[in-house]
Amino acid sequence: MRLHRLSRMSPTPIYLDHQASTPLDPRVAAVMERYVGCYGNPHTTSHSAGIDAGKAVNVARRQIARAIGGDARRVVFTSGATEANNLAIFGAARANCGRSKAVTVATEHGSVLEPALALRDEGLKVEVVPVRRDGRVDLRLLESIVDEQTNIVSVMHINNETGVVQPIAEIAEICHRAGAVLHSDCAQSMGRMPVDVNVLGADLFTLSAHKCYGPKGIGALYVGGRPRIVLKPLSLGGGQESGLRPGTVPVPLCVAFGEACRISAEEVQVDADRMGRLGARLLGAILHVCPSARLNGSHRHRAPGALNVCFPGATGDELICALEGVQVSSGSACASAVLEPSRVLLAHGLTNEEAESSLRICVGRFTTEEEISLAEEVIRQGLCKLGL
Ligand code: PMP
Repeated sequence: MRLHRLSRMSPTPIYLDHQASTPLDPRVAAVMERYVGCYGNPHTTSHSAGIDAGKAVNVARRQIARAIGGDARRVVFTSGATEANNLAIFGAARANCGRSKAVTVATEHGSVLEPALALRDEGLKVEVVPVRRDGRVDLRLLESIVDEQTNIVSVMHINNETGVVQPIAEIAEICHRAGAVLHSDCAQSMGRMPVDVNVLGADLFTLSAHKCYGPKGIGALYVGGRPRIVLKPLSLGGGQESGLRPGTVPVPLCVAFGEACRISAEEVQVDADRMGRLGARLLGAILHVCPSARLNGSHRHRAPGALNVCFPGATGDELICALEGVQVSSGSACASAVLEPSRVLLAHGLTNEEAESSLRICVGRFTTEEEISLAEEVIRQGLCKLGL
């Protein structure tokens, strides 16, 4: 067991920012190491070096497909969720030119929102649907916007700042009634909630390895739909990944991603129960020491262990400094260069001040009860120092 001493001399930080990234699972690291020296090109079929590499990639493809209840032939490896989201949105919009509207939601990750807005330059009408105060999409409003002109709709499963879960299955029904394609960014879902493509019912799904205890630099777009959704690739080249994502895939990263998905799917129930319990314990402790603190976003429709808390009277930066030794963040890692209040929290209807006083806190697979006890103590002292 890791021992934490939070003295200034030898702080061992307590990592509670699992929505930014997750630590590499040692079991995943062990598998990845075995393939670091695998030099064959996995797309080569003329010798055993290539064939063996190709087999390893296909094992990973099957593991990923099995983890989400899908078909291995429909897994398209990408460099991560950003690329998968871009491929889904541009790919669907450009392949399906008969329809002229794209729809997404105000709380989406930048790698969905930016490509969706960029479709305006390609002549599409783009609607960004607001969310309710609890961060959820209003289904009636969505239904009034998605029509027979709608080409692609993109709604994330678990929000990366708030942990709010969107009703993807219901949204899929609305989209399919109108004949629109539904993409769902599930980067935050694997290992935190079950991801079954048949239950969620979307057509395109984004995954990212570093959000489920795998390495950075690898992800996938799952291209479902009956018949399979047609996409226009973003790049042209050697025709790999069914022509949708040309380029040689990185064997060690693919293998590690496969193992990370296998473990995450197998252990999701146990992990989710633990993370949910630890998150609830931490929230209880925060509200006990700071009764004015408020949980942002839906209480009920929330990923286990993911908290976003407003501490009125302090800024996110002051809070982060006061909680030295506990690693949390004041917003999305991808937007941390932006010195503005979180647009996700503003979309919930929070004021600038409330959004700037909010922290994202998220436990993970390896968070221990002991770490939560220590975090509670640091938070208690930090809030006291700030006079909260
Ligand atoms: N979508 C969501 C919901 C995310 O949380 C992230 C990572 N912050 C991304 C997309 C981008 O992921 P990647 O780093 O794999 O490109």
